[in-house]
Amino acid sequence: MEGQFSSRDRLGAPTPLRCPLCRSRLDETMVRDLGGVTHDLFWQLHAGRCPEHGWFQTEVISRPPREIFAVSKPFGVARRMTVDGKEIYSFPTVYNDLPPAERRNRIDPLDERYWQVRRLENAG
Ligand SMILES: [Zn+2]
Repeated sequence: MEGQFSSRDRLGAPTPLRCPLCRSRLDETMVRDLGGVTHDLFWQLHAGRCPEHGWFQTEVISRPPREIFAVSKPFGVARRMTVDGKEIYSFPTVYNDLPPAERRNRIDPLDERYWQVRRLENAG
C-alpha cells in the first residue's frame, strides 16, 4: 500500500538524489525497486529528506530522472513549495538539457551528474 514500507525498500540506501534547493545530501534515504522480480527493467523510486526543506523523491526508469518532486512523505503525494514567491511542485534536472544524440547513448541512470537540478529561474 502506498506510504508503507515493503521488502522492496532499501532504507539508508545510497542515492544520487540531493535537495533541489540547497543541494545537500538527504537524510533517511530510501530506494524502492519497482522493476519486478526479473530485474530486466531498471525502475526505482528514490526518496530522502532534507532537514531544512523536507522530503523529495523521483522515479528512475532506465534513465536519469527528468524531474525531482517535493512530497509530503516518502512515496506520498506531491507538495507545493514556495521558492522566491513562486509555487513549485517539481524541479527539472539537467538531464532535460542533454542533446538528443547524447540522450540516445547508454547512460548510467544513477550517474549523479544528470541528477542535478537546473538553476532555479529566480536564483542569483
Ligand atoms: Zn535542502
